[in-house]
Amino acid sequence: MKNKVAIITGSTKGIGLGIAEEFAKEKATVIIASLNQKDCEKTAKKIASKYKVKTLGIACDVSDTNQIRNLIKTTKNKFKKIDIFVNNAGIYPFKSISQIEEKDWDLVLDTNLKGSFFAIKEASKIMKPGSKILMISSIASMIGFSGLSHYCASKGGMNALVRSAALELASKKININAIAPGGIDTPGTKGSMDAKAREQIAARIPWKRRGTPKDIATVATFLCSDKAEYITGQILVVDGGWTLG
Ligand code: NAP
Repeated sequence: MKNKVAIITGSTKGIGLGIAEEFAKEKATVIIASLNQKDCEKTAKKIASKYKVKTLGIACDVSDTNQIRNLIKTTKNKFKKIDIFVNNAGIYPFKSISQIEEKDWDLVLDTNLKGSFFAIKEASKIMKPGSKILMISSIASMIGFSGLSHYCASKGGMNALVRSAALELASKKININAIAPGGIDTPGTKGSMDAKAREQIAARIPWKRRGTPKDIATVATFLCSDKAEYITGQILVVDGGWTLG
């Protein structure tokens, strides 16, 4: 990954931060893109000093197509290229079907799915052969979760998007794949589930533990490396066996 320029959305915390750190370990230049400019700059600075790599923090709300365009343009202007784009930013606000209003549906779909599509569209215009796009989907794209119907729909859409985009992007030799994580401990899941609920999930996972951002980040590093040159359009489940039984 040395000298590769990688944008990771939603990378000030959780899985996105784990991926940014793992890429930085491999000496990639990393662009930290989340909602808040100060947080992005702070995270970028920390990673630069810890791993001795180039970084940049750019605020980008992925539900806003203009901000995605700005993220890609700013990165291209500064580093001259984009080799890797990770669509990680995502939200999972628990609400039952009866509580979900149109604005709730739009926010989840715009953040998780629309944002990913426009990132693919804009990034693939300037990416060179050998570039990689990675989506962070979810096992919620494959099995149902009560209270997350909008989220499950967005991640199911993401998987379908990966397969069709892979067909089109193959002609440019751009790989696009997804990771579907299971239960990963992040600030997001700690905020939406108490410790007991998280322990109950761990007990039903065959691997008998919840995942960590690093569990996802190491797989992301492989899928975004030259070693994964012949893999495209795939959804790789990383869940300690949760969805097997
Ligand atoms: P998290 O801890 O809540 O962190 C989410 C990150 O995304 C934060 O940096 C947040 O920025 C950023 N973000 C939120 N909305 C954004 C937007 N509109 N534009 C740009 N950035 C935005 O989340 P996580 O648990 O790491 O989840 C990351 C991804 O993995 C999501 O796509 C999620 O669906 C997927 N996933 C997670 C799990 C899990 O168990 N954790 C399982 C399956 C899939 P701020 O800090 O500025 O809010």
